[in-house]
Amino acid sequence: MIKKKIKEVINKNVNEGEISKKANELPDKNLFQAAVLNEISYLNRNIYDLENILQSILNLLQGIIKFEIGVIFLAEEKIMLIFSREKQSNENNEKAINTAINNFNQLAGQRISKNEMKIKVIDSGNISTNSNQSINSFIFSEIYAKNNIMGILMIGCYQENAYSDIDSKSLNSFVTHASIVMDNARLYQKLESLTVIDELTKIYNKRYLAQIIPQELSRVERYRRTLSIIMFDIDFFKKVNDAYGCIQGDIILKEVVKIARVTLRKVDILIRYGGEEFIILLPEVNLEIAQNIAERIRKAVEVFSFSGQKEPLRITISLGVTTCTKELIDEGGKKLISVANEALYEAKKSGRNRVCVAKK
Ligand code: GH3
Ligand code: MG
Ligand code: MG
Repeated sequence: MIKKKIKEVINKNVNEGEISKKANELPDKNLFQAAVLNEISYLNRNIYDLENILQSILNLLQGIIKFEIGVIFLAEEKIMLIFSREKQSNENNEKAINTAINNFNQLAGQRISKNEMKIKVIDSGNISTNSNQSINSFIFSEIYAKNNIMGILMIGCYQENAYSDIDSKSLNSFVTHASIVMDNARLYQKLESLTVIDELTKIYNKRYLAQIIPQELSRVERYRRTLSIIMFDIDFFKKVNDAYGCIQGDIILKEVVKIARVTLRKVDILIRYGGEEFIILLPEVNLEIAQNIAERIRKAVEVFSFSGQKEPLRITISLGVTTCTKELIDEGGKKLISVANEALYEAKKSGRNRVCVAKK
């Protein structure tokens, strides 16, 4: 019963009056706080989307303190999220942005400028009936992570001197708890941006390719070695997804990876380049052998019965092959990939389910 009442209080629209007043309607104010904290900890389950988390935090805060505009600024990520129920004037958004940065810079002794930041404004799109009013009161709280200031959360409203000491205290207490969630989401994002393994297929991703290609090219150049590259793409994969669904599509992607793997040596590097596009780096392999390897993979996929829900499925792939030449090395990794891609395009254009070698 009390739980239900708490939920009502949290969910009620701020338009209907200050929620902090509503909190007093509850038999126990601490219980209200506990409920909010519980809601915050619930956010911890969705840490994989930082921007969404920040938005949810401001959303939740609206249930506790009244504000027209809410700002979260995270210094390391250099992101700023501006959140308001009604569309604010440019002046109000600018004022909030500048105030938040100035406050943060003062607190943290930094000199971050607006130009370095990714700013995202989120509002309902509805023009406010108060659209010509300016924001006249701001309060903020530092966001701490392990005793370091990692950002600032600031709220503002039209009324002058709108916020009391109690509001500031509530804000601080809210932000202390929300900081943990923000820090987790921040770290998750950072970790994800460092990962070089593709989630679905567990092979290397495009990020790894970007790291490895300069090393591989310099090895080839310095020691006069060879490196060939195969780029392949599943034929008409969209049709497979459309006909059998994405889960079936995912199963096929994984099976294609397995087939490619058994054909390759340990030193070959298989990379998921994009959705249904793959790249294979073949060190110490010349063009002729690379072409043979590509043909082996093509054939292996062609004859494979992919496990389908009702019946086994058949698919084919198209492949483009090229090898490092002096000119290609001079032009760098991007050129090498684009040449392989042209060969792949040729394979698609000339009928699919085939291997094409890049033109000299
Ligand atoms: P083409 O022979 O010209 O390559 O035709 P296509 O349909 O394979 O090519 P297109 O680029 O039009 O479509 C690629 C499709 O691959 C779109 C998308 O549905 C699918 N796809 C990309 N990534 C994934 C994924 O991770 N899982 C699944 N199931 N499908 C994916
Ligand atoms: Mg395709
Ligand atoms: Mg494709």
